[in-house]
Amino acid sequence: MNPRIMVVEDEEPLAILLRYNLEAEGYEVETIDRGDDAELRLYEQVPDLLVLDWMLPGLSGIELCRRLRLRPETERLPIIMLTARGEESERVRGLTTGADDYVVKPFSVPELMARIKAMLRRASPEVISAVLKAGDIELDREAHRAYRNGRELKLGPTEFRLLEFFMRSPGRVFSREQLLDGVWGRDIYVDERTVDVHVGRLRKAVNRGRERDPIRTVRGAGYALDDKFVN
Ligand code: CA
Repeated sequence: MNPRIMVVEDEEPLAILLRYNLEAEGYEVETIDRGDDAELRLYEQVPDLLVLDWMLPGLSGIELCRRLRLRPETERLPIIMLTARGEESERVRGLTTGADDYVVKPFSVPELMARIKAMLRRASPEVISAVLKAGDIELDREAHRAYRNGRELKLGPTEFRLLEFFMRSPGRVFSREQLLDGVWGRDIYVDERTVDVHVGRLRKAVNRGRERDPIRTVRGAGYALDDKFVN
């Protein structure tokens, strides 16, 4: 499961160029060409980083940025704003509106890639680190293995991805729909009950004897990696 980056850009050639380069770096990329569509999508799924164009149809990048900062789910989402040359004063506005960084068009792609990497490393080391830890559970992304108290957990590929997904955002409650979207992918049709089945399998694989269940069922909402377990 690679870091997920959303690119909101209405200039199609630029969106394609960014997608190509980001995918080559190993990121999962989603491109959206309207500000209002991006806002709706961000209600469903929050990426690890947002590349946001300033001028967009539907809703401007700056207004979207402002709104995102008001929502707890996205108040700390790393945002890189793309601005056109000559918008110097607007750039300042961009930063005060809550973007973490800005890049002036036309920009060098390698420089943007470097900034994205640096920002991810700073903002969410758990997204790019090879080993994730939560309580007595350790997940090694490179070796594709997970351990609890040193014993290796026997996880199917879906359970592994599910555990990784939870461990990336400890304490956060995910709806079944968000889990389907994040773990199975949004283009695959799977019944929401499938989530329950796989969470059940994950629990069975992770918990032995009197070990504490790291996964919390939140009635009417979904599942979370229990933050009491993490600390
Ligand atoms: Ca634009």
